[in-house]
Amino acid sequence: MRAYTGQTDTSEREESERLLKNNEVKALVATSALGMGFDKPDLGFVLHLGAPSSPVAYYQQVGRAGRATENADVLLLPGTEDEAIWHYFATASMPNQAKAESVLRALTDNGGAPLSTPALEARVDLRRTPLELLLKVLDVDGAVRRVKGGWVSTGQPWTYDSERYDRIAAARVHEQRAMIEFETTTGCRMEFLQRALDDETAVACGRCDNCTSPWYPVDVQDEAAATAAASLDRVGVTIDARAQWPTGVANLGVNATGKIAPADRLSEGRALARLTDLGWGGALRGVFEPQATDAPASHAMTAACIRVLAEWNWPERPAAIVTMPSRQHPLLIDSVARALSEVGRLPWLGELSPANGGPTGTAGGNSAYRLSNVWERFEVGPELDAALEPFAGQPLLLIDDVADSRWTLTVAGRLLRRHGASAVLPFTLALRS
Ligand SMILES: [Zn+2]
Repeated sequence: MRAYTGQTDTSEREESERLLKNNEVKALVATSALGMGFDKPDLGFVLHLGAPSSPVAYYQQVGRAGRATENADVLLLPGTEDEAIWHYFATASMPNQAKAESVLRALTDNGGAPLSTPALEARVDLRRTPLELLLKVLDVDGAVRRVKGGWVSTGQPWTYDSERYDRIAAARVHEQRAMIEFETTTGCRMEFLQRALDDETAVACGRCDNCTSPWYPVDVQDEAAATAAASLDRVGVTIDARAQWPTGVANLGVNATGKIAPADRLSEGRALARLTDLGWGGALRGVFEPQATDAPASHAMTAACIRVLAEWNWPERPAAIVTMPSRQHPLLIDSVARALSEVGRLPWLGELSPANGGPTGTAGGNSAYRLSNVWERFEVGPELDAALEPFAGQPLLLIDDVADSRWTLTVAGRLLRRHGASAVLPFTLALRS
């Protein structure tokens, strides 16, 4: 099971070793694209922005350099987010027992007829990529088979091999620790890598930054620093409006199919930044950490939101603000609404109210489930209804904390448009995608 064990291709590994030993590799300090068969013999340097998850993977990747050159420079620039990225990829390929059993049950219950991936999404709350990954695992294990029109169960019993997955997880943790050790070692880096490949004869190379001293420039030019700072301070990303209801939601009790009627749709929106972005993304990740307590946005953050509005070339300026009710970040949303209302001279009309017990479930599932969790879960209360009346036929700005699947914003926009808004422009602090 190569996909799980991270076993390395022996011939490739030997080739990498040979090249590293025979070439004048000057230093080894912290993109996996190189692992995917990059083939350019005169590659003179390898610069990693972010570290691979194991010394062996790193060794293979830097081994791509210097095949037909006298010298090759390799430089590793580890990132603070590396461990989170390794964790994501290490767990993404492991099947979740409950989800796997749900998929098998859905296929069995369909009586031998195939189910397409979109049809499965309305039966199991998994997003497309994890669902496809899981189907591949089940296919390799012989429990499902791809046929014309989708997937069927083979009827072969499937058991969750927890021992195997635990073993793989432990091996990954071990590799990741070794990578951190490689980054922080004060010993020879080349020797470290060779020992990671079980070469007990490895000795100090005399060429790496630890054997000598850093050979790469360590100062940053003022102009470059200023350009980087300006780039990191950029604000505003587009939130595209949903145009289509998810397939198969009728199965989940949602009466919506096909295209979203133009009169019900949101307009294009804006978020301050993506949660994965550098710059503002970093500050937002702190705000939206699961353990973070709700608080008003910092002055710098509200100022950045105001800049997003100022730079937004909307076709028609919104006439007023409506906010989403938030269970997790009411103070945050209030502070942003207040700032945008004051500076933009837009009256803040109030917030939508939860209906039928409010939204259920959590973000992170697939579109069909996410929509069913928020469908008919909001309403325009009597106060907001009265406040909206003078703004009938005008565009509204709708403020929320995070746009994820965008189904919350989509159903809220539809509701406000049915209450007379000519357009609804969503604005959120973060975009999670
Ligand atoms: Zn060395």
